[in-house]
Amino acid sequence: MDLPRRVNTDPRRALPSIHRLTEALLERNSEIPRWAASEAAQRVVTEARRVLDASAGGEEARQNDPGGNQIWLDQALRLAQQIARPRPQTVINATGVVLHTNLGRAPMAPGAAEAAARAADSYTDLELDVEDGRRGDRLAGAAERLRLLTGAEAAYVCNNNAAALVLALNTLAEGREVVVSRGELVEIGGSFRVPEIMERAGVQLVEVGSTNRTHLRDYADAIGPQTAMLLKIHRSNFEIRGFVKEVGLAELVGLGATHGVHVVEDLGSGTLVDLGRHGFPAEAFVPSRLAEGPDLVCFSGDKLLGGPQAGIVVGRAAPIAAMRKNPLARALRLDKMSLAALDWTLTAYLDGRAEQQVPVLKQVLLPPELHEARTRAFAKQLLEAAQPLGPTVEFEVVRDRVPVGGGSLPGFELESWGLAIRGPGGADALASRLRGSLPPILARVRDGMLLIDLRAVDESQTPSLLKSLAAALH
Ligand SMILES: *Cc1c(COP(=O)(O)O)cnc(C)c1O
Repeated sequence: MDLPRRVNTDPRRALPSIHRLTEALLERNSEIPRWAASEAAQRVVTEARRVLDASAGGEEARQNDPGGNQIWLDQALRLAQQIARPRPQTVINATGVVLHTNLGRAPMAPGAAEAAARAADSYTDLELDVEDGRRGDRLAGAAERLRLLTGAEAAYVCNNNAAALVLALNTLAEGREVVVSRGELVEIGGSFRVPEIMERAGVQLVEVGSTNRTHLRDYADAIGPQTAMLLKIHRSNFEIRGFVKEVGLAELVGLGATHGVHVVEDLGSGTLVDLGRHGFPAEAFVPSRLAEGPDLVCFSGDKLLGGPQAGIVVGRAAPIAAMRKNPLARALRLDKMSLAALDWTLTAYLDGRAEQQVPVLKQVLLPPELHEARTRAFAKQLLEAAQPLGPTVEFEVVRDRVPVGGGSLPGFELESWGLAIRGPGGADALASRLRGSLPPILARVRDGMLLIDLRAVDESQTPSLLKSLAAALH
């Protein structure tokens, strides 16, 4: 590497030029694309100049920089690799949390992903009726499947559930009042706050009840000539326990009918198989929510349903027809790849294949004894792969409990199994080494141990997980 040696007393003169650093990077690793090398060199040199300028005479920088040019090169190399890496990249989810928001929620079934890929790289009849050659309805297929699955009069899909809620509010209640219980004014993930969404949708929020208790008469008292809707919002990511009262959907429907106002439920995470049959809370089963009689129920495509990101609305024909005519619908519409993946997923439900083929359902319904057996077999393989084990390494198969995640079934936890590992340097250091693996591995830290839960790890990823874990234990 022919970078200039440091000779001058001004440490800035010892910095390589951006051009030289770029060339040095490409020489060191020919797989780095030039654009990434040049961006990394630019950032490293600029940052180094800033640090030197800030520390009088560069004394501090010199002390932190015993290796001189080699340090710039190593830094820039790591940065260039980071910049060049595809995003989002595949990771291994060893947290046991099936719907992990930071990890992209539901992984789709291979069949759904293939359907999306086919829609992506070919022409499709997206908006064509092939029978008569005229313009067709892009949502016709999905809407029909949803009607068949839920018994709804009509269905609609858009970009995500937040969009579905905005569209429903704006269509049915613009410039008018929407009544919501104070116990349901939730924030779901950093940027989705119900009061703010309502404001942007052009409706006026009327809060009723208190955080822990809302009665039917609170809703009734709030209804006036300006009221357009009673909105029920699933609390999703938290639970209220103790001295609690909330009004059920059926009661709201009765009240709405008396006063001629819409009743809408934002269910968040909806399922199309009755998880109640498997010992889960039955609250998320869309057909039973609809049976209570609301005008609309909306939910996400990529939570418990296990499909692509989408906002799904099912319910009465008239409000759904009005939503489709709203000009905002165009701005919130679903793209063709997601539509194809959703179609595949809904068809799997209709065929009765969903529990075998939709990853989210398979993971959530995984029998604990199978999970335990897989975890024990994995622990054995790891024990062999990681030999010789250092004196600080220990591991043990333990019982675990994990939430489903993604704002589904709050307060409910799955019985799970994990591999608890004590590694060199402590659990946090081990977790950080695992995040640096390729592909990165995400695990939890519990009681000072690293906890690997295989529930959400696809079989195809097990060898890679094993290899990276064995490496990280040394
Ligand atoms: C998750 C959630 C949303 C947002 O859904 P997206 O599909 O992420 O837009 C809205 N409401 C509730 C109750 C939720 O749980």
